[in-house]
Amino acid sequence: ASGLNAAFRMGPAVTRDGTRITLTLNASSADELEGLDPAICDGIGLVRTELLFDGPGALPDEEAQHEAYRRIVAWADGRPVTIRTLDAGGDKPIAGVTEDGESNPFLGLRGIRLSLRRPDLFLTQLRALARAAAHGDVRVMLPMVTVPAELEAARRLMETALAGLARDGLAARRPRLGIMIEVPAAAIAIDQFDADFFSIGSNDLTQYVTAAGRDIGSVAELADPLNPAVLRLIASVARHGRETGREVCLCGDAGGDPRAIGPLLRAGLRSLSVAASAVGAAKQAIAAIDLRDGAP
Ligand code: PEP
Ligand code: MG
Repeated sequence: ASGLNAAFRMGPAVTRDGTRITLTLNASSADELEGLDPAICDGIGLVRTELLFDGPGALPDEEAQHEAYRRIVAWADGRPVTIRTLDAGGDKPIAGVTEDGESNPFLGLRGIRLSLRRPDLFLTQLRALARAAAHGDVRVMLPMVTVPAELEAARRLMETALAGLARDGLAARRPRLGIMIEVPAAAIAIDQFDADFFSIGSNDLTQYVTAAGRDIGSVAELADPLNPAVLRLIASVARHGRETGREVCLCGDAGGDPRAIGPLLRAGLRSLSVAASAVGAAKQAIAAIDLRDGAP
C-alpha cells in the first residue's frame, strides 16, 4: 500500500458514522502472508486450499495439510481463520481430482459436489482441519453448497474425522462448519441451511444469477455484482443472518472493490473478506460511508 490509503491500512475498518466493519483477508498460503502484520485485519475470512492441491506430484497428505493450515493459524495470532475445503472444478481444474471433458464445468462436479464423491480426499482434509483447530480459532467452510443434504453429509464426515482422530490419540477440535453462499438455490432458500455461518461468494453468485461467466470478457459488463438481483439476494442473506444470529461475510472480489463497498454495506453486510492488497483502499472506502438513515 502506498500513498493516500496507506494511512488507513493499520487502523480498524469503521464507517463515517462509527459502525465497525469486520475486515478479514483472503489468502491461499502462509507464504503469501509472510511479512504482513496480522493487525491490519480481523483474521482470515477465506483460505483457498486449491493451491495446496495443485502443485506438481502427489496430492498433499494429512500431515502436509495440517502443517499448511497450522502455519496460517499461527500467523493469525488468535484471530479467526476460515478455511474453505477444496473447491476444485469450474475455473480451478486439478489433475487427478477433477473430471476432464465436462461440457460446462461451472455447472458440473465442483466444490462440495466433488468432495462428497471423493470421501477419501475429503476425510483427509477434514482430519487435517480438525487438527489445525486445536491450535486456534479455525472455522471450516464448504464451497458450492446447493442443497442442505450436502452440509449434513459434510457434518457427518466431520464427526467421522473427529472420532478417528480421538482413536488415533491426535489433538483436535470440532470447528464451526459454515457454507459459502454462491449458488442461487442456497441464497434463495437460505433458511433451509443449518450452517454455523455463511459467506457470500459474490464471484460465483454473480455469474450464476446473471448467467454471465466470470471468465468471459465479452459479457463482463453483465457479470455485475451490483446488479439489483444480486444485491437483493445479498440483502436477504444478510437479513437472515441478523435474524438467526449467524455471521454473514462476503468474500468475493466485490468486497475489495471501493465502488461496491457502499452498496454492500447498505444491503446489510458488516463483514467483508478481501485480498491483502485491497485492505487500505477498502478501509478508506468504508470510512467515507455514512450508514445513518437518509445519509447520502
Ligand atoms: C466467489 O465465488 O466469490 C469466491 C469467493 O470463491 P472463488 O472466487 O474461489 O470461486
Ligand atoms: Mg466461488
